[in-house]
Amino acid sequence: TTITPYANEPFTDFSLEENRKAMEAAIAKVKSELGRTHPLHIGTEKIVTEAKITSINPGNVDEVIGYVSKADQALAEKAMNVALETFESWKKVPARERAEYLFKAAKLMRERKHEFSATMILESGKNYVEADVDTAEAIDFMEFYAREIIRLGRINETQPLAKIPGEDNNISYIPLGVGVIIPPWNFPLAICVGMTTAAVVSGNTVLLKPASTTPVIAHKFVSLMEEVGLPAGVINFIPGSGAEVGDYLTTHPKTRFISFTGSKEVGLRINRLAAETAPGQIWIKRVVAEMGGKDGIVVDETADLDAAAQGIVASAFGFQGQKCSAGSRAFIVESVYDEVVAKVEKLVQGLKVGLPEQNFAAGPVIDKTSYEKILEYIEIGKGEGRLLAGGGKAEGNGYYIQPTVFVDVPGKARIMQEEIFGPVLAIGKAKDYQEAIALYNDTEFGLTGSFYSTNEERIAEALDTMHCGNLYVNRKCTGALVGVHPFGGFNMSGTDSKAGGYDYLLLFTQAKLTSRKL
Ligand code: GLU
Repeated sequence: TTITPYANEPFTDFSLEENRKAMEAAIAKVKSELGRTHPLHIGTEKIVTEAKITSINPGNVDEVIGYVSKADQALAEKAMNVALETFESWKKVPARERAEYLFKAAKLMRERKHEFSATMILESGKNYVEADVDTAEAIDFMEFYAREIIRLGRINETQPLAKIPGEDNNISYIPLGVGVIIPPWNFPLAICVGMTTAAVVSGNTVLLKPASTTPVIAHKFVSLMEEVGLPAGVINFIPGSGAEVGDYLTTHPKTRFISFTGSKEVGLRINRLAAETAPGQIWIKRVVAEMGGKDGIVVDETADLDAAAQGIVASAFGFQGQKCSAGSRAFIVESVYDEVVAKVEKLVQGLKVGLPEQNFAAGPVIDKTSYEKILEYIEIGKGEGRLLAGGGKAEGNGYYIQPTVFVDVPGKARIMQEEIFGPVLAIGKAKDYQEAIALYNDTEFGLTGSFYSTNEERIAEALDTMHCGNLYVNRKCTGALVGVHPFGGFNMSGTDSKAGGYDYLLLFTQAKLTSRKL
């Protein structure tokens, strides 16, 4: 069969009544299945443990999404042994065949799209659009990486080695071994699927430790891979605590690589632990870490100010600011500052907070720990800037926080420097676009940024000088598309990987050169 060119999965238009109805039906179906117990998957075994992670709906904390079995060190060790054994056979499966599993899974996920999205609406607090985009991205990752491993298999044709007489030279990208996959809860399907399938389609076997707040959607994905016939033991599903299972596997001598997406603190810890060589270890572990951001938007006086205000608000408050790409800072030049601030205020006032399943624009944050941390930052912000909107808790039986905006915030303020990962936006004033860019660059992170202007020279300057992995002009700084906007940042934002890009699978492979004398 021929493979069609890669194209992004279209988003669902929820202004159409039929699509809204379809999502409501999917939510009702998922609700009828809540509260189930989910097992670990270790090779062919499904293990229900006594200890469980209780996954709850952050928007209605009395609702249990599911009870998920929890691995301890002994079970992690068992999973490691199964993954090591399975690697010996999986690495021999031709790339094209490995890719087929992803194509099949993408097809099934597309057919059941709203069901996956509905699970995220209930488990992670996404509204319809945010959940739909997440599922679409998961489909994209599978479609993209499946094609990528096929492309890498043809590297001798597409990127031929220099020829010399008397030799036949070839290069191939072979898998690494057993990897530990630690995805985040904020794209609980897309990033989990992307990180896992990239490693697996490259010929590795993995130990998947999902985020503890969103293990049910992760399990749904693992079940899908089982359904399409992915051999048992290629993806081993072992939810558990970071301190227990995460550290154990990170320091394990047989772990070949760790693929992590999450906070800077945890990423740095993994990097440090993985750098130690355990007795019996015969490689340097590879760490792929996508960490935080303190992303921002720069607006100059020539910009379309309505578009800029919309971009600021969408970037800051989409999924309650819980994206590493979230535009939690904005720097606006003096002459249009008051005008843009007024527009932002008006748009933020239009963001109604409420239950994700009723598709409110703003929903809850993920859990109690986040909730308290964000509220603390809001209190800090009250001492660092002027409160323009929001400023505290919002009504509801969950972790609801008002979309909050501070203005006149200095560049060195904590709310300008520290990742809050919640619905809090800090706006600062700059005398001109150059000062605004300097303020933007004053961060340890470097993930995403946007520059709003209509002046070509300034745009060229901004493209050159704003230091981040994903830099956008005259559009919001969230919403990178697989294959279109390879995603990943600089400095403390991570190890410079680009998810959904042409370099990504190289992170899960090693190149073998063979040279034969003719
Ligand atoms: N790729 C997502 C975006 O561009 C963000 C991913 C993340 O938050 O980890 O919005």
